[in-house]
Order: sequence, then structure tokens, then C-alpha cells
Amino acid sequence: MLGKDHRIIYWNGAIEVLSKIKAEEVTGTTNHWKAFYNTERPCMADLLVDESLEAIPQWYYGTCVKSKLIDEAFEGTDFFPALGENGTWLRFTAAVIRDSAGNLIGAVETLEDITEQKLAEEELTKVKRLESLGILADGIAHDFSSLLSAILRNIFLAKISVADEDKILEQGLEIAEKAGLQAKELTNRLITFSQGGNPIRKIASIASLLRETAAIPLQDSNVHCNFDLPDDLWPVEMDDKQMKQVVQNLMSNAREAMPDGGVVYIRAHNIVISAKDNLPLKEGKYVKWSVEDHGIGITKENREKLFEPYFTTKQKGETKGIGLGLAICYSIVKKHDGFITVYSEPQTGTTVDVYLPAALTEGHLDKDSSGLSPADKKRILVMDSDEVMRDIMGIMLNFLGYASEFARDGEEAIRLYERAVDAEQPFAAVILDSTLSGSKSVEGILQKLIGMEPHVKAIIAGGDPDHPVMSEFRMYGFSAAVTKPYSIDTLKIVLNNLQL
Ligand code: ADP
Ligand code: MG
Repeated sequence: MLGKDHRIIYWNGAIEVLSKIKAEEVTGTTNHWKAFYNTERPCMADLLVDESLEAIPQWYYGTCVKSKLIDEAFEGTDFFPALGENGTWLRFTAAVIRDSAGNLIGAVETLEDITEQKLAEEELTKVKRLESLGILADGIAHDFSSLLSAILRNIFLAKISVADEDKILEQGLEIAEKAGLQAKELTNRLITFSQGGNPIRKIASIASLLRETAAIPLQDSNVHCNFDLPDDLWPVEMDDKQMKQVVQNLMSNAREAMPDGGVVYIRAHNIVISAKDNLPLKEGKYVKWSVEDHGIGITKENREKLFEPYFTTKQKGETKGIGLGLAICYSIVKKHDGFITVYSEPQTGTTVDVYLPAALTEGHLDKDSSGLSPADKKRILVMDSDEVMRDIMGIMLNFLGYASEFARDGEEAIRLYERAVDAEQPFAAVILDSTLSGSKSVEGILQKLIGMEPHVKAIIAGGDPDHPVMSEFRMYGFSAAVTKPYSIDTLKIVLNNLQL
């Protein structure tokens, strides 16, 4: 507490601890600045005592505002580098003191050390930012990965059609393929880095989630929601935390698009998608839900950029728009094997449609599998953890006149094999990649297959021909071994020798 002459009247025990300056050292002096600064300058209470309120911005630029509750009082938050070991964050308030006649007699300033709180907040923001970046990175990496697969697939096709004498073209394709595989490896690393964003899916009802979540971003606004959610919606497999984020981002956008208030319509229905729908979705059952507002709408040129990270038309700060909302929605929906799309007219409104695959019950799966196999072609099951390899194998086998099915790991291979045996459409042969097979060893997987079909024709494909399973493949029950990478000609010979 300062008197009118800036001398300290009262210095309590808490500020003794904070500043390490004893009351007896400073009471009666004007040395209070020493607690906070390295050089002499006015503190907030000094400016109030002098009634020089106009000088406050100059000394406390952007860190301090007039109190909403008390006249002649100010409050602020600032970092004081000279205070404490690594500096200290203080929240401070200062107010004028007047006597009963209204004469100014001094000022009081109170300080609160909020360093820990501040650091925790910063940490949280960092985590949140990383989380959104992780989701983004993952989405981008997955897109890149499928683009690269398409490129590699075509390089491979070009390679098998190039004439033998065209060495230059062949070399060029080799180099392109190598670079493509390296890029693929890079995207894999990026995906691993961002695994945090992978959905943990459970079968759930999108209607309940919409009812629980949609209104939250509308609190304290004159925007309301109207639900049209039928009772017979199919369940979906989703990560409810992530899907809530999607709903909230869309609802915030709707709210921000209707500054004068209004109604947001939330609808859902079951839909079966087929190829003629021209949507980037596999054929099958989906639940389609939408968020429709009658707000400002989106111009045509902005519509193309909507899902881009950091694309925003909102003023930063005002609505805290940073342009990640839709980018995150896109990435989350994509990870759920769904699709999100936006229809909008300026001045009329915006509808965002989200498609999520309906959760299939076991019964459905069994029924679907029976119609799969192409009539005459012999079928081969390929287990390989690498998507490019699976793609390439598919092309090679098709080229050699076989139909193929693919498993990413041992568990999937066993499941597919079992299903084929049950449906009495067994595979003519299986090709097992020895390098990565999930939790099971490749020998263990073969044992399981032999259990189902004692005469299973299994080929092991491995990188190291000296590995015992490769060199002694017969002892393990394999019919053949091929060293990776192998050419289409090798594959042809191996398959011919098996006399499928
Ligand atoms: P942000 O909301 O932070 O700006 P978003 O990714 O959520 O970022 O949205 C990007 C941009 O898309 C917005 O700035 C806005 O221009 C436009 N937009 C999204 N949803 C709507 C909507 N419902 N109505 C009008 N414009 C929208
Ligand atoms: Mg937004």
C-alpha cells in the first residue's frame, strides 16, 4: 500500500516471500519497484496515486485494462523476467484509496503469482496444436501414400510392357520406381509419427452423439438446433471423441455463419451407396448426416479451399478462427472411411453432408463373402503388410490369369482362408510374406492353414534366401520359396511348378 507521496505504508508477508525483500527494509521508502524491475520505473500504484491514468498504456502496453467492477482500478497480467529464478507471471490489480471526504490518500496493489497456471495453459495449447497437426499430418500422409501407390502401380505396368531392347526406358522406370518406394517409406514414417490421431472405433449411434453434442457450441447464442433423426438409423463404427469434434466444428461454423441467430437443422438417414452415385466411397451401407444453416454462405472460389488447413475468412481473435476446423473434420471423417462434402450458396446458407459406413454385423460379412469369387479363375491369397506390394501382386496375378485376395497380416490371412474353406471356395495357393505377419510367425500361420486344409499350397516370399524357413521351406510345410523382390517371370514359373 502506497501513500500519496509514493512511500510504502504497508508491505505484507506474502510480498516479502515473493520479492525476498523484508518489510522493514522498504516500509517508508519508495523502493517497491526493486521487487519487480532492474531499473527504477513507476508501478501501477504509483500511476494511480499521481492520477496519471493516461500514462498507464505507455508503461503497461497491452497487459492491463480498467477494472469492470471497481472505479479507478486497473488489472493486468504480465511476465516479470527479473522476479524469481526464471521470471514470474503475475496477475495484479491496483486501486485508488480515498478518504471519507473523497480525497485521494494512496493506492493499494495486490499481486498473485500465476506462473504455474500459465505454464500449464501453455502446455495444453501446445498439446492441442500438436494433436491437430498430428491428425492433419496423418491425413496428408495417407493421401500421399495412396497417390504413390497409383504412381508405382503405373510404373510397374509400364515396366512389364516395355520392350526388352529398350534399356534406357527400362532404366528410367527402375529409377522412378526406386524413388517412389523411398517416398512411400517416408509417408509410412509420417503415418507412424501421427498414429496418435488414429480412431479407436466402437459401434455406436450417431443420433445419440448428435443429440448430446450439437447444442454445446450454440450455448449463449441466439442460434438453436432442430433435429430430424429417425429411430431406425444403422449403427456406425466410430471414435466418439473424434466424431464429437467433427460435430462441434460444424456447429461452430454454423453459429458463426448466422450472427443474427436462426435455426440449424441436423438430419440423418440410412443410405446405400452404389457406383452410380459417383461418390468417393466404397459401395455399401452408410449413414448420411447433415448440418444445415441459413447463414452467410460461401462464395464459389472459397468453396474449393474450405478443407485446406489454415484457410479461414474469419478475423483472427474475433471468432478465434484459425482455419483448422474443416481440415480436422475432413481428416477424421476420412479415417472413418467416410466422406464429407459442403453445399453452399452465398447469402442463402450452407449444408455439410457427412457419410459414415454403417457397422456390419457378422451376419452381413458372411453373406457378402459368398458372392465374391470370379467364376473360373483360380484364386490366390496374398499376405503382405505393404500396400504397394499387395497392389503390385494384384496386377501380376491378374496378368498371369489368377484372381487374388489380400491380407495385411497373419490374423487376416487366417480369417480369409477360413471363410473361403467354409464357403467351399478354397484358395488354390497362398503367398506369405515372411517379413511382417502381425503377432504370429509365418510358420505359425502356415500351421493354422494346414489345420484347415492339409494340402494347402503355400509359397513363402522373403528377403533373405539363407533364412532357415526359406532354405528349408519344405520342412516347414511350404511348397515353394521365392526371394523378394521377384519378377513376374519368377512368379509365373513358381506357380506353374505348383500345378494349381
Ligand atoms: P474457421 O472456422 O476457423 O475459419 P474452418 O476450417 O472451420 O475454419 O472453416 C474455414 C472457412 O470455411 C471459414 O472461415 C468460412 O469462410 C468457411 N465456412 C465453413 N463453414 C461455413 C458455414 N457453415 N457457413 C459459411 N462459411 C463457412
Ligand atoms: Mg470453424
